[in-house]
Amino acid sequence: MKLELKNLSKFYGKVRALEGVDLTLDKGIYALLGPNGAGKTTLISMIATLIRPTAGKLLWDGRDIFEMGEEYRSFLGYMPQNISYYKEFSAEMFLQYMCEMKGLKPREGRGRTTELLKLVALEDVAKRKVGSFSGGMKQRLGIAQALINDPKLLILDEPTAGLDPKERIRFRNIIHSLGEDRIIIYCTHIVPDVEHIAGRVLLLRRGKLIKNNEMGELISQMQGLVWELPLKEQVSEERMEELAISNITQHGGKLYMRIISEEQPDEEALAPEPCLEDVYMYFFNESQGEGK
Ligand code: ATP
Repeated sequence: MKLELKNLSKFYGKVRALEGVDLTLDKGIYALLGPNGAGKTTLISMIATLIRPTAGKLLWDGRDIFEMGEEYRSFLGYMPQNISYYKEFSAEMFLQYMCEMKGLKPREGRGRTTELLKLVALEDVAKRKVGSFSGGMKQRLGIAQALINDPKLLILDEPTAGLDPKERIRFRNIIHSLGEDRIIIYCTHIVPDVEHIAGRVLLLRRGKLIKNNEMGELISQMQGLVWELPLKEQVSEERMEELAISNITQHGGKLYMRIISEEQPDEEALAPEPCLEDVYMYFFNESQGEGK
């Protein structure tokens, strides 16, 4: 099980959406991160065979995915950003319909629908119309449809956008449980959602892959670059600007300014454990000219 991207580029006229991406993916969960316009959707659309590259190759176990066509798509699962549902369909009808679209016989489709509804904890609302579902329920139904063919390669595009914290945790647990035996590409802006489930992190900036690292390794590279300073009421706007605050955090009943800096910004500043959000802020802090 291996997906290789070789010198992959995509241009829309003169617009560079992606350039020279080299990447090999094998089993595991990959967090795909980058600011708006970085090229994430372009990359995953190519992996899903929805668009073709301008240059370069995509290979599955050494074979061109566009030449494999249906064979490749038979083990691909894709959860796009805003799935449209027929509001009048129940969850069960929708999944059975999708099973048929994927070529399952009606009996197989019914069996698979029951399994999937259970997996995403929607069995109790199987007969309810999707139009009455909450955002989180719709997202869970979205993951269920992406899993119909038990995909070896699963692509998730912003799967937790718009979900409340409880739904996000529930969703994260489902994905975590799926990560053992397949390649999962998880594209998101909600960085904490992938911190504890992804094994590797891919950072895209302006169409280029700038990082491809193991999660712990990438976070530990932030040691000595992250600071916390107690938030005092009298901090002036100028000082706030000068400190390049990445976040405000709270612990032990106190508020702290989280600062990314190569030097200790203030003698009161402490060095906390870095996290994936710090990595993101370090590389993509717009106010610092898009970080490093
Ligand atoms: P977002 O997080 O906002 O979805 P993204 O990282 O997914 O962004 P892409 O949608 O892949 O980024 O876009 C990468 C670049 O390619 C952007 O500059 C975008 O404007 C451009 N682009 C994408 N699709 C097209 C298109 N069909 N025609 C022209 N330019 C496009």
